[in-house]
Amino acid sequence: MKITVLGSQGAIPKVGKFSSSLLLKVSNSNILIDCCEGVQHQLRKNKIKLSKIDIILISHAHGDHYFGLIGLISTFSLLKRDKKLIIFCPLSVFKIIQAHIKFSKMTLSYELDLRVLNNETKINIFQNDFFYIDAFPLKHSIYTNGFIVSEKKKKRKLILQKALENNIEKIYFNNLTNRKNVVNKDGVEINYKDVTKEGDKPKKFAYCSDTAYFEDLVKNINGVDLLYCETTFLKRDQDKAKITLHSTTADAAILAKKGKVKRLLIGHFSSRYDDFNEFAEEVRTIFENVIISDEGKKIDV
Ligand SMILES: [Zn+2]
Ligand SMILES: [Zn+2]
Repeated sequence: MKITVLGSQGAIPKVGKFSSSLLLKVSNSNILIDCCEGVQHQLRKNKIKLSKIDIILISHAHGDHYFGLIGLISTFSLLKRDKKLIIFCPLSVFKIIQAHIKFSKMTLSYELDLRVLNNETKINIFQNDFFYIDAFPLKHSIYTNGFIVSEKKKKRKLILQKALENNIEKIYFNNLTNRKNVVNKDGVEINYKDVTKEGDKPKKFAYCSDTAYFEDLVKNINGVDLLYCETTFLKRDQDKAKITLHSTTADAAILAKKGKVKRLLIGHFSSRYDDFNEFAEEVRTIFENVIISDEGKKIDV
């Protein structure tokens, strides 16, 4: 799993910066999580082919999280995309997309599979052979979801030397890594465990933007390898965070600590601040392993 940060800021990005959006690559799929204004520019700048995007997750209907969506949907069609695109979004964004397609008389070159999120608790919204996606409600001024993308158990790794010693034909190597016993050239059954070892540990990534801190969130993101949590405000502006239902550095740090996550990625910074290192410094007083979002930053989950 790999993240590319496309936008690090809140609703009014500074020059050269963008609102919240990131790309998650998991197995052979590319998932765009939130879709800020200018996202096409950011995808191109980061050398991510638009055609590679398979799924888009929209957390909520505030513009800084979806204003790039209509442009992207249109461009896909102009580029003659023929692969299906799945978008998970709240009903409000669903209606905006439908209205735009209707009023602009847009004919799409591809199948647009719009799936409305209206869950009030954590639910599974997607899965394939390699990963699954859960959505869970956040606490914000309008209906908002967070997301967790989890890899499924990975293939085992072949110990080539042992496979050769056991006289196994190459065409059966795939069965072995898929946890199946095989019969070797001498007609002897070989247990897959004898010639393979455990594969890489499956990873989990959680995305929480925008939200105020609330206790239920802790169990939803518990134990993930990387947690993205918004930190719109520094601690000194916690009164503003309370009113607008956003998080401060302390909120995100407490969430990461209580949720026993491995690492915390922070972003959605308010444009009232100039020094984003101050965000990391504040987080570190509570939770050590923090990364600051920055346009173009790549992170292995
Ligand atoms: Zn926002
Ligand atoms: Zn918002």
